[in-house]
Amino acid sequence: MPCCSHLTWSTNEFKEWAHQGQGALPMQSALPRTYLILVGYLTDGRQEVKEKLVDGCLYVKDNTGIIPCELLYFQLEWLDSLLLFPGWSYIPQTDQSATGYVEILVDPVPVNLPKEVPDSIPVTYPVSAKLLLTSRIPCKKRSNLTVAGELARLGPLLCVHHKTFFFLFLKCFTSAVWVPVLVQKPNQLAWHHILQLGCSYTITGLSISSLKKSGHRMFVTGVSSCLLPYCAEQVREQPLDSALQGESTESSSLETAEPLSDSSELGVEEERPRSTKESKIISYVGTVTKILNVQAGLFLLDNKVCLCLSYQQLLNSARGLRPGACVELIDVHLLQKPLVSFPFIVLGACLSSTVVLKSFSRLSTPYQPPASSGNLYLQLLFRYNLGMPLYLWLVSLLEMFEERFSCFFGRHRPLLRSTHQNTGAAEKFVVPLLQAVVPDREEARDIYNEILAKVHQCPLQKYMTLNPPCQAPSLSTVCHVAEQKSWEGFRPSQLLSSLEAQHMGTQELNRRLTWSYYTVSPGSFQPRLILLGVLRVSSRSNSLQLQDKNSTLPCVIARKDGSPFTHTALLGSLLQVENYQLIVERFLQTDFPSWEHLENLEHVREKKNSVYVQFYFEDVQVLHAAGGQIQKCLRSQNSSSLRKDDSSLTSELEAPEAKMLKLEDPKPDTHRDENCQGGQSSTRRTSCVSRLFLVTQKEGLMLRNYQLPGEKVGEGRELQRSFQATVLWLGRPQLWSHPRETGNLPELEESGCNGEESVTRQEALLLFMRKSLRWFPFLHLDGLYRFIVPCCSDLDVFDKLCFPPVPAKLLSRSSCPLCLPVQDTWHLQHEAWISCLTERQLAAMSVQRGMDQRISTIPEILSSSFTGSLVSFSGEIMERTLCASTKNEKPSVTVSLQKQKGSLLASGHSVKLSVSVASDSPVVVDVYIAATYLQHLWGLLPGAKILFQNLERKISRFHNVYCTYIASSCVSIISLPASHLPFPSRPAGEASSPPLVFLSSLQPHLQNLPQSRILCHLSCVLTLSLQWVCSLCSSIFKEGRCTRHNPPCPSHTGVRQASAWVLVEDGTGEALVVCRNQHVAAMLGLSLLEWEALQNSVQSRGRVSIDHGEATGTGCVEEPEDLIACYLRSLCRSPLICRPILLDFSLNRKPSKILQPAPPQLRNFWCGEVEFVSQVGPRLNLLCLNVEEVEQDALSYLNSERIRRTSSHCQVEATA
Ligand SMILES: [Zn+2]
Ligand SMILES: [Zn+2]
Repeated sequence: MPCCSHLTWSTNEFKEWAHQGQGALPMQSALPRTYLILVGYLTDGRQEVKEKLVDGCLYVKDNTGIIPCELLYFQLEWLDSLLLFPGWSYIPQTDQSATGYVEILVDPVPVNLPKEVPDSIPVTYPVSAKLLLTSRIPCKKRSNLTVAGELARLGPLLCVHHKTFFFLFLKCFTSAVWVPVLVQKPNQLAWHHILQLGCSYTITGLSISSLKKSGHRMFVTGVSSCLLPYCAEQVREQPLDSALQGESTESSSLETAEPLSDSSELGVEEERPRSTKESKIISYVGTVTKILNVQAGLFLLDNKVCLCLSYQQLLNSARGLRPGACVELIDVHLLQKPLVSFPFIVLGACLSSTVVLKSFSRLSTPYQPPASSGNLYLQLLFRYNLGMPLYLWLVSLLEMFEERFSCFFGRHRPLLRSTHQNTGAAEKFVVPLLQAVVPDREEARDIYNEILAKVHQCPLQKYMTLNPPCQAPSLSTVCHVAEQKSWEGFRPSQLLSSLEAQHMGTQELNRRLTWSYYTVSPGSFQPRLILLGVLRVSSRSNSLQLQDKNSTLPCVIARKDGSPFTHTALLGSLLQVENYQLIVERFLQTDFPSWEHLENLEHVREKKNSVYVQFYFEDVQVLHAAGGQIQKCLRSQNSSSLRKDDSSLTSELEAPEAKMLKLEDPKPDTHRDENCQGGQSSTRRTSCVSRLFLVTQKEGLMLRNYQLPGEKVGEGRELQRSFQATVLWLGRPQLWSHPRETGNLPELEESGCNGEESVTRQEALLLFMRKSLRWFPFLHLDGLYRFIVPCCSDLDVFDKLCFPPVPAKLLSRSSCPLCLPVQDTWHLQHEAWISCLTERQLAAMSVQRGMDQRISTIPEILSSSFTGSLVSFSGEIMERTLCASTKNEKPSVTVSLQKQKGSLLASGHSVKLSVSVASDSPVVVDVYIAATYLQHLWGLLPGAKILFQNLERKISRFHNVYCTYIASSCVSIISLPASHLPFPSRPAGEASSPPLVFLSSLQPHLQNLPQSRILCHLSCVLTLSLQWVCSLCSSIFKEGRCTRHNPPCPSHTGVRQASAWVLVEDGTGEALVVCRNQHVAAMLGLSLLEWEALQNSVQSRGRVSIDHGEATGTGCVEEPEDLIACYLRSLCRSPLICRPILLDFSLNRKPSKILQPAPPQLRNFWCGEVEFVSQVGPRLNLLCLNVEEVEQDALSYLNSERIRRTSSHCQVEATA
């Protein structure tokens, strides 16, 4: 408990004292009063701990214990004497288990008598001493000197190579001449507490020493040196040697800093961001109001100025620097806005600055000690010799890092701790970032020059306002920013081409707007955004996700070589990704009546989105490997014994001339790395059992009802989320005394695995439930994996857990694989792909190769000879469209149970994915996935390559082959869409024009004819129909009203539609082509304006159609007097219509009721001057996808090409 004691005070006096202390921070409570008497010895700790560790700290000691203490004023004679402390506060650490320290509020009263002080000491004053330092007389002769003077400057305690020391500067009483004194003996470090600026002191037993590199000369204390208060009566001046008398010296003066009396100077100066600024040196007195970051040495003074102590290395252990304490800063650097994002003015204390505690805090604010070792802030500050802007940026990065991830890695701070052998996660993260910005800051900081040079030099002098080069915000911020970007400037009209949209009815229009996506790349963030997160498997969706303290982000990981992601060791690891795609899936609820209202955002009823990220495994950097990586742990444990014992590096710093030393981490790490969650090494070392297997089938996640052995047949047993995989065991279980390197597969090297065991018994059905569900994203078909059972030596562990799938022994065992529930503690490790095995290894398992589950190709699946009903294949998504669900979709158990509140797509929807072998291939199969399954299927985007498994293959009424996603299906992302891919609904195959074909080469029975192109002649228009239909009910829409009367339709919006049947021939055959909407205009050769006018004129009529086809023979059904109909009829009969065109088409599956295929016949064709005679097969039914006019030049070229290439073909046909 924090408390304070004031022996002599009355209650009122105490209240007054406490009240004053609350001035700066009224919200904080004052220290509670206690009535305890503190009596003890004051010691510098030399007797208690080894001399090495004496760091200038003072302690109060009695026979029961020792506690650090902090004093504002200290007399040397108090040291090692018994004292009564009339006023003190006890300040506990924030960490309750550690002891705090005592702040001595009132000078202690000695219980025993003070020691005698010797009188009449010969002293040298700074003016003469300066001569000694500057003279060229060898300094060896000059020893045991005594120097007296006024303390002009007091340097901070420093620790270099395990030696603690400090500098002080004594000034002449009458002039500005000063001399530096190095205090370095352990017993003298307590002087740091005694010395008061402006007071005069005498120091005995000094010798002269110099720094090798810079030649700086100074006085150095010896073992017998004493610090005495200066008393003119007790000293006499020591005359200088005559040799020295003659030498003249220039008197150098301490740089006089401009004192800062009022704080008006701290006002923010106007911003000049990209220019180098010079920092002002000022003095300042202020009250600590907040500890910003004790490890980084950052404190807030007076709620407006940041004090940075980190350039002074030891941070004074931060004792006393509690909120409420008053500090005086002498000669500190004033830096305005060093970092754009840093809100405060910064006062930077360098090695020539002095920080004096003026008064203790009277508030009950706790003490946060800085880390005694491995302080990464200071390590990096000194290693890279950072200026203040970069240091503050580093601090912000590390603070963010710790805030987000320390909860994952225990409270022993391994993230920020870093040792020579074991680079911590935070260091792995920030060092490359620092190296990128400070490539030329290699030169070490010269601390002696910084302290001793006449002209001040230090890293704080010059600075430039820094714009942070990158950021790593929390995942929730990342999501938020991505969402914002995706809706920024969003217009529903962007999602549709206006050509298509103007012909859509309300339902289709709004459905097409329902689902879209937006990609955010790292480049769209300013500054660059680095993604950090711990890889986990979501317990809800069993998909991968990145996680930080407050948030999660689903992720899709693919590998650049196209193989599925299987790296189980990454689970629980902290990852850094700089190259990624953030995908925002947008879900809109809209009620646009028609396309003309698309700009009116009032019709957007609801906007929702979900964000996920996708990236390549190769772009991942592991900052902190999880404990699951058993092998690496063991290896690094072995190697750690090889480490160099760096105690040899502890070079002595008897005098600073010994070496130019770099400032190092204050207290090097004494308790070395317990690498990876130590303490389990003994058990881990015992043994583990492993077994290799090949995945031959994997099923999707669903709720299943398993009857595990040992479980009672209960009625209320719930369905369990689970998945199962059929595997082949390869070889027998192996006992490992320690995990081996991956890569070699001893099971496959053994020749005898085909022994007595029957092949069928080698197959097993693995059941993954509960915790083992986490392996779902990692387990893939055709992969060789290994189960590792830790701390186990029972080779039968797998067999013992197996049970037959059917409880009653109705089935013979040999026909059915045994079930094996995968235990939570088992570890899964991917070893290889079957495609990567050597011949010999394949031979070893060839007996067992009998898998029926294979991966097919898309053409195989489309072929009418394909027999399977469950199919697996891979392909690239060409297009993703939302459809109304097929009506006969029966809601399965799974679906209804999975129905969760988070569903963003209405359950009536399903998505159609057009999947092709490759982006330039026109062979496409459609995959339908119901909305309920889509919830956790990330990464189904155009351009992505996907492995679909266990889809149901179906054939439509019109003999189209398509696939549907069922409960046991699963998908895995093989490769991500290229980042440059444009956004939504790009029509398939737009990139490359489809291949030019001949009608005769098309076979009507061919399933799923790919999109193709012909050069053909438009023979005639058989039917043509232009109409306005109601956007709601599709009835004819006439004169602004829907014509439906029973029941009346409220719609006020009509949509124009057009369709036509035309006949084309290309010399090898004839085809019926159905055209819709804008293709009709193209077919008729109408310009956009003409087409607009035509459609508008239909508005008052509702519908105009002509039909002069050969087949119906019924003649005209339209009213003969109608102008538009007459115009259209004459247009259709015009010879201008009959012209060569380039037609992109696909096979029309929906049979025409207009025309039945004509029987094969011989027909004559004209092509230019050439007449062909050709046998014409049954007419094909084609769907027009695009019409292009053919230029005359192009036509003659294409024609001649065609004639050349096909003359033989035609003749063969003709004579057949
Ligand atoms: Zn400085
Ligand atoms: Zn209607």
